[in-house]
Amino acid sequence: MATLKVQRPKGTQDVVPSQMYKWNTVEGIVKDTASAYGFREIRIPTFEDTALFVRSVGDTTDVVQKEMYSVTAKGDADFSLRPEGTAGTIRALIENGILNEGFPQKVFYVLSCFRHEKPQAGRLREFHQFGVEMAGTKDPRADAEVISLAKSIIDTAGLRGIKLFINSIGCPECRAKYHAALKEYFAGRADELCDTCRGRLEKNPMRILDCKSPVCSEIAEGAPVILDYLCEDCREHFEKLQQYLTAMDIKFEINPKIVRGLDYYTKTVFEFVTTDIGAQGTVCGGGRYDGLIETLSGKPCPALGFAMGLERLILTMEKQGLDFAAEDTCDIYIASMGDAASVKAMQMCAELRADGVSAECDVVGRGLKAQMKYADKLGAKFSVVLGDSELESQTAELKNMQTGEKVTLPIDERFKAAFNAMLISHMLSAEEIEEPFDELESGDITD
Ligand code: ATP
Ligand code: MG
Repeated sequence: MATLKVQRPKGTQDVVPSQMYKWNTVEGIVKDTASAYGFREIRIPTFEDTALFVRSVGDTTDVVQKEMYSVTAKGDADFSLRPEGTAGTIRALIENGILNEGFPQKVFYVLSCFRHEKPQAGRLREFHQFGVEMAGTKDPRADAEVISLAKSIIDTAGLRGIKLFINSIGCPECRAKYHAALKEYFAGRADELCDTCRGRLEKNPMRILDCKSPVCSEIAEGAPVILDYLCEDCREHFEKLQQYLTAMDIKFEINPKIVRGLDYYTKTVFEFVTTDIGAQGTVCGGGRYDGLIETLSGKPCPALGFAMGLERLILTMEKQGLDFAAEDTCDIYIASMGDAASVKAMQMCAELRADGVSAECDVVGRGLKAQMKYADKLGAKFSVVLGDSELESQTAELKNMQTGEKVTLPIDERFKAAFNAMLISHMLSAEEIEEPFDELESGDITD
């Protein structure tokens, strides 16, 4: 039979083991920062009823009109792979009664999203988002806090030159007047608009501002801006947000062109943008969506959130040459010669692992030289070689693989404690190397 050669689908990525440390670094940062702000993790299904996305993301958005992976299961259900995390998260908060547990409710997630887009750098068909949602507050302090959380992540990652753009797209009240003005503006050039946008003209003219087609975006350049149409309440909300951001020393720029690609937004919208990774520069996007929960549950409940594209975050970190936390390597490789020694090596590994030490031994049946080569490749911190003479003397030499230093240790029940002590001093000396530079850079030395 001919071999079946399968490649990964276009727009998807494998994260191979040697690259995982980058993901672990970034996921560690986002989770720790979210926890520090009092957000709790939530997990939701990969697919939901298509109707959920159509209702919440909006039926005139690119995501729903062009990018959704919809699947019809046997029977009659119509499901879609989640194109974003907010709709499912809000559905879960409602369905599990979490919104009855007091306000605000603050949750975060790390999940994969699926959009049928044209793949390019920073634009995939399966990508990953870190996102947060806060429900139960209409106060602009909440907007500032959520923006501050995103900013903390960007700062902790070490990213430079990321710009924060904010805008307000008002509430349904100001939106009605704005829509009328937009319709009038675009109606004059209706026959130049792309087919999709011509359809949007009646239903949702604001979506035209978000169209990626060059002609539509050129026409959109001269369109009226929402900020001129804000009602008193929305204007005050936007001004207070700016006041809080300034107080928190978070720099921003008002950009009336930001409308966001999803329909559920109201009032505050924002984006963190980098110029380092080409056209796909929006690392994080979010805003307030005061009407979404009511749309899905019937009960009004203001809320807000953001989502960060993790591939774009990692890409920017790589472009800026930033550090990722080093990959965890093997603590000890126990090489062996002969059957008895190999049994002893397995036993020692099992004991060490029970203590949380990462220990490895030969499971291939290789000679000593090949075993040591493998230990090197693993980046093992220490190694030990067991043979007949070691078994007889019940001692062996522990080798520090970095310095070549050797110490003789008992290989009976005392080995574990002795090795742990070596490991701790190894870790401490690794830290000592880094610390003086940290201090010098932060300029903290006062005496
Ligand atoms: P864009 O304007 O770049 O298409 P968007 O407005 O569609 O972004 P959101 O729906 O707000 O994006 O998603 C939040 C974040 O998820 C984006 O800021 C981006 O970092 C990331 N993201 C969105 N789509 C993709 C994709 N196809 N591939 C990789 N990351 C993505
Ligand atoms: Mg998009």
